[in-house]
Amino acid sequence: MPPESSPPPPPDPRIAREQAIADNTRAESELNRFIATKQDALFVAPDAFYRTQGADAIRTAPFVLDSLSRLNEDALDGLANDAQRRKLGPALDAHLQLTRDDIARHVSEQSKVWQRQTALDRIALLTKEAAYRHNDDGLIDAIGTAAGSAARAHARVGDQPPDVEAENAAAAKARSGILSAAIQARLGAGNISGATALFDRVQDQLDPTHARPLQAQLGSEQRFDTGSAYAGALMPVSLDTSADGVETGKPEIISDASPEPVEVGKQYAQAEDERHKAKDDPVYLIKKLEHTATPQDRIAHGDAPLEVVRPPPISIPLAKSPARAAPTPGDAIPIGKFAGESIPARSSKRNFNKAERADGNRIGYKTGCHTCGSRDPGTPSGNFYLDHQPASRLNFAGVDQRLYPQCMTCSARQGGQTSRYLKEAEEYARELLKKDPEQ
Ligand SMILES: [Zn+2]
Repeated sequence: MPPESSPPPPPDPRIAREQAIADNTRAESELNRFIATKQDALFVAPDAFYRTQGADAIRTAPFVLDSLSRLNEDALDGLANDAQRRKLGPALDAHLQLTRDDIARHVSEQSKVWQRQTALDRIALLTKEAAYRHNDDGLIDAIGTAAGSAARAHARVGDQPPDVEAENAAAAKARSGILSAAIQARLGAGNISGATALFDRVQDQLDPTHARPLQAQLGSEQRFDTGSAYAGALMPVSLDTSADGVETGKPEIISDASPEPVEVGKQYAQAEDERHKAKDDPVYLIKKLEHTATPQDRIAHGDAPLEVVRPPPISIPLAKSPARAAPTPGDAIPIGKFAGESIPARSSKRNFNKAERADGNRIGYKTGCHTCGSRDPGTPSGNFYLDHQPASRLNFAGVDQRLYPQCMTCSARQGGQTSRYLKEAEEYARELLKKDPEQ
C-alpha cells in the first residue's frame, strides 16, 4: 500500500482500460444475478408471487417489493468500487421499476379476481339459503333480490364504464338461479304441487337454462304422480267382507253368491226373445222425460248401447302414444246384452237379504243370466248370482251399483277376466309412466 500522503501513480492506460472493462462486466454480471433471483422469487419458487391469487396476492405484494429492494441494496453493496456501483445502479433501478409496475398490475388483477370471487361466493351462499328455506315464498323473493345485487357487484368489478344492460342480465340470471334452487328443493322434498305452484308463479323470471330442465323434471314428476294414482286406482283395494261383516284381509272375490261346486252343462238355455223390455213402459217414459233414467234403465228398455267399462280417464301428457293399445275388459265384465230388470245394490257387499235373493231369482228365471242369457243359474241351490254393476273392483268412479242375475259359469269367467284386466291395465299404466318425452 502506498502512503496516504503520496499521490497515486498515473495509471497505465492499458491497465485502466482493462479495469473499466472489468467494472462493466462485474456490473452486468451482478445485474444477471439480480434478475435470476428476482425471477425465482416472482415466477419459479413454490410460493412465487405470480402464483398467488386474489387476497393472497394483495397481502404478499408489500413483502415482495421489500425483498426486491433489499436484493437491490445487497447487489450494490457487494460491488468492489464506486465505478461498478455507478454502472449497476441505474440498470438496477430501471429493472426494479419495471418489476414494481408488473407487481402492481398483478395485484390489481388479483384484486378484481378476489372481488368477483367474493360476489360469486355470496351468490352460492344465497342459493344454499334458498334451498334451505324453500317453503318461504317471501324469503325466496328477498334472497333472489340479494343474489341480484351480488351479481351486479360482480359485473361492476373492473375499470370499464358501467354496462347497465349486462348488469341487469347478470342480476336476472342470479335471481333465476335462486328461484330454480328453491323449486328444486321442493321437488327434492317431494312437494310436487308446491314446486309446480312456485314454477308457475315465477316462470317469467326464470332463465331458459333454468326453466327448461325444471319444466322437464316437473312434467316427469307430475306424470309419475298421475300415473301412480292411476295404477293405484286399478289395484283391487276392497277387502273381502263376509256376511258376518269381518274383514278377512283377502282380496275380494268377484262372485256374488256363496261358493258352490260347479256343475257343468246346466246352463245355456237362451232367452234372446225376451231381451228388451218394452220401450213404452210408462214408468220408464216418465223417467226419460225427467232425465232420471239410469244407464241401466236405458239398457233394460233396449234404448241404449251396451256399456263397456273403461278405465278412468287418464290425463298423462304423452309425447307419443303408447306402444300397445289400452286393454279392453272381457265380455263377462260389463252389463251383458241379456240384461233385463235390475235391483239397486245397497252397497258393494254381498250381504244380500231374502227379498233381494227372491227378486234376483225372479229376474234370472225370467230373462236369464245378463251375460249369456241362460235361465239356469248352474248352482245346486238354484240361486242366481247377483252381479254388481259396474263391477265393484272396476267401480273407480264410485257410482251407485245395481244387481243383475248372472249364472255361475259367467260369474266365474267374470272373476278371471277382471283379474286379468286389472293386471293388464296396471301394466299399461306403468308403460305410460315410462314414456317421458324429455328422456
Ligand atoms: Zn251366464
